[in-house]
Amino acid sequence: MAGIPNLVPSTHETILDSQSTACCIVGAGPCGAMLALLLARRGISVTLLEMHKDFDREFRGDTIHPAILEVLDQIGLAASLHEIPHSKASGPTLQFADGAFQPFDLGRLKTRFPYILMVPQSRFLEFITKEAEKYPSFRLVMRANVKKLVEEDEVVRGVHYLGPDGWHELRATLTVGADGRFSQLRQLAGIEPIKTAPPMDVLWFRLPRLPNDMEVPGGVLGGIGRGRMLIVLDRADYWQTGLVFPKGQYQHLRAQGIEALRRTISEIEPRLAKHTESLTDWQQLSLLSVEASRCPRWHKPGLLLIGDAAHVMSPVGGVGINYAIQDAVVATNILASPLKAGVVAESDLAEVQRKREWPTRVVQALQSFLQKNLIQRVLTSQKPVRVPWQLRALVHIPVVRDLPGRLIAFGPLRVHLLET
Ligand SMILES: Cc1cc2nc3c(=O)[nH]c(=O)nc-3n(C[C@H](O)[C@H](O)[C@H](O)COP(=O)(O)OP(=O)(O)OC[C@H]3O[C@@H](n4cnc5c(N)ncnc54)[C@H](O)[C@@H]3O)c2cc1C
Repeated sequence: MAGIPNLVPSTHETILDSQSTACCIVGAGPCGAMLALLLARRGISVTLLEMHKDFDREFRGDTIHPAILEVLDQIGLAASLHEIPHSKASGPTLQFADGAFQPFDLGRLKTRFPYILMVPQSRFLEFITKEAEKYPSFRLVMRANVKKLVEEDEVVRGVHYLGPDGWHELRATLTVGADGRFSQLRQLAGIEPIKTAPPMDVLWFRLPRLPNDMEVPGGVLGGIGRGRMLIVLDRADYWQTGLVFPKGQYQHLRAQGIEALRRTISEIEPRLAKHTESLTDWQQLSLLSVEASRCPRWHKPGLLLIGDAAHVMSPVGGVGINYAIQDAVVATNILASPLKAGVVAESDLAEVQRKREWPTRVVQALQSFLQKNLIQRVLTSQKPVRVPWQLRALVHIPVVRDLPGRLIAFGPLRVHLLET
């Protein structure tokens, strides 16, 4: 009921305690963890709630793009991030029927970091939250499963979360939903994303490195077979491999069995034939059901959605983490002063959406173009596919050849952290 704080999440449960903070961030993924660090650095009281007990979960992507490396450099953390065991990728080499094709090369970009740094996401999140812990205004609560918004007079005033010992209340000037593609906060706020279904799904798995293994210039290899694509990322001590196949065919693939899967991989990339012997069980593979979406509205009074909670990116270009963290940087630039002042107007939240929505839409449109004109062709053809001549021509024109790389590395607008 408006005006009366609801302290009872269900008829049976009672609240064990109630705490308050300036900014309550739900979800310690790349977006939430980074926002928490950036706000804590500014002396803003911030509490980060994460439902898992640690950061060690299933594979979610390990890519840190140049835009994020530049921001980490701005706050003096790029060098120490590079101390974590990592590999680097500057651009894929795709093997088509008419030869190799390199759609972009980050190595040509003007930046201190002309590559994607690949660090296990768990190590990255530990690194960011450890840095945040150096600031007294930061608090991290693990095993905090947020299930309810506290609303008064139609303004979100915080959340109720379930910990191992029971229910807790966290009241906040601003609540941020950085809780990923299945966002509970988005659902609780009644915000419906507009979804599109890209034409593919991806199975991710590891293949071992073997003595005298192949070399992969640029760190990424792409192979094309009958109705399938194979992506191979050089992860120094293993090959991170993705098999891209038409949407909805997962059950069909499973029914054909793991032996057939091994054969498909070896047909596309014969140099991996021996490696595929390590695949013996479907438990070794994780399915990424590809979707893309964006929320028409990222906010309501007292609540902001960012990262995957506001927009799920297609995996083309691997930009999900990049765009999620850029949201956190822009949110810090716009909201740090209002949070310090203790009043965040809805127009401040709308400004975050205004600044971040259009770059997201530009890149989603480009991803959709590539899906329709290249990936769909590959996935529906039973014959070897050649690179469209227009694409081959474009990469020879100096002015346009670096555009795709720049979009993947930075997005349409380079984001910087404003220090005030
Ligand atoms: C299999 C797979 C592979 C991917 N590969 C790549 C890749 O190579 N490169 C890339 O850029 N992107 C990749 N992505 C996408 C990428 O993971 C996301 O774009 C990115 O993680 C978004 O960051 P986020 O912080 O917004 O959300 P998330 O990383 O999803 O983080 C959300 C966090 O919120 C927590 N949470 C959820 N609900 C609650 C709740 N109720 N209470 C408390 N906490 C909650 C979750 O546990 C999680 O820690 C991949 C995704 C998948 C699924």
